[in-house]
Amino acid sequence: MKFYTEEGNYDLVGNNTPVFFIRDTMKFPHFIRSQKRRGGSGLRDNHMQWDFWSLNPESAHQVTYLMGDRGIPKSYRHMNGYGSHTYMWVNAAGDKHWVKYHFHSDQGVEGLTDHDATRIAGEDADFHRRDLYEAIERGEFPSWTLSVQVMPYEEGKTYRLNPFDLTKVWPHGDYPLIEVGRMTLDRNPENFFAQIEQAAFEPSALVPGIGFSPDKMLLGRAFAYADTHRHRIGANYLQLPVNRPHVEVNTYTKDGPMAYDHTGDAPVYAPNSEGRGYADHVGEVEPGWEADGAMVRQAYTLRPDDDDFSQPGALVREVWDDQQRAAFVKTVAGHLLGGVKGDVLERAFLYWKAVDADTGAQIEKLVRAGADLGGPGGQPDAARDDASEPIVETDTNAG
Ligand code: NDP
Repeated sequence: MKFYTEEGNYDLVGNNTPVFFIRDTMKFPHFIRSQKRRGGSGLRDNHMQWDFWSLNPESAHQVTYLMGDRGIPKSYRHMNGYGSHTYMWVNAAGDKHWVKYHFHSDQGVEGLTDHDATRIAGEDADFHRRDLYEAIERGEFPSWTLSVQVMPYEEGKTYRLNPFDLTKVWPHGDYPLIEVGRMTLDRNPENFFAQIEQAAFEPSALVPGIGFSPDKMLLGRAFAYADTHRHRIGANYLQLPVNRPHVEVNTYTKDGPMAYDHTGDAPVYAPNSEGRGYADHVGEVEPGWEADGAMVRQAYTLRPDDDDFSQPGALVREVWDDQQRAAFVKTVAGHLLGGVKGDVLERAFLYWKAVDADTGAQIEKLVRAGADLGGPGGQPDAARDDASEPIVETDTNAG
């Protein structure tokens, strides 16, 4: 999401789930490759996906969410959005807080069954794009209610779990949602290529009052997205109308391929004696988390509730009902029957039993029965070769 503010662009990265597969940005390329295609056959491979997931237990929360009934949204209009990462807000008095963004769909959250998603993908591969475009053309403007969770700065050091861990949520009971506004999509692009294909979003684009946190995934993305745009669009992608700030820019970054903006014969270096601005920062550096060594060291030191399985366990046991749990068991079993074998399959059983003993046992039973019946693919309705597609593809481009 891009906000053209009076102080420059603010880009907010997020996802349709509140968590992600990994918490360490160094694993990002490995994660993406494991969900894509094998080096040899060039084919996607459930075995490879589960090899990565089962060796990285921090993925359990996101994979649970993904295989649940919200895994394949009915449309872009019927899914929530989450900033997912933890950001910093600094108020006018200089007080710092940690914040998480939640965009709740005013259309309601609805998902597709695997069966329907498989059919629709064959009938109309543009289904989601078409739905959003046509709804806006009809004047049915989809909207989302924006709420935030806010944590005082110092509590980031002592909270019972690492609040900068992208694989965890902040339970609503600890930090309730505070409603702050509404986002409405009320206009379609006039030209898809110029305004959508060439749009560049980068979480490194911040404005005064908003900052990063010690969330390693956010810090990795702060580098990776802008690098991607320089490669994908070109060095001067920020000069394109869709990406340029709506306020005047005074930068000494200049020239390069497809450069359009220029400053005439103004000095190209700073400081200079011809009056073009530049200010050395003098005086005290404002304290922030970057200067707070204790905060950064503590962030990734294990805390009482930092384990990888409690939160997905809460989703399975406390949020879902029997019907949702039964559908989940079928979906996971169908995916495992699609070619996951040997040690990886055994690890997958342990993974699900660690999330929830009963659910894991049901998954194992169904898979072993399917395998005995001659699997793979023993559950056609539940087979989900594309299970991670909506999330994984999005992040690949940027990550
Ligand atoms: P709460 O009971 O306060 O919140 C549970 C949340 O679960 C709901 O608010 C809703 O999120 C979400 N939810 C409801 N149905 C589904 C579904 N079918 N699939 C996925 N998510 C669903 O409990 P907690 O805050 O203590 O969280 C318990 C668990 O709920 C967490 O471990 C996490 O897995 C999940 N959750 C928590 C969120 C959070 O930010 N605290 C956000 C989303 C999920 P929403 O209101 O965003 O629609």
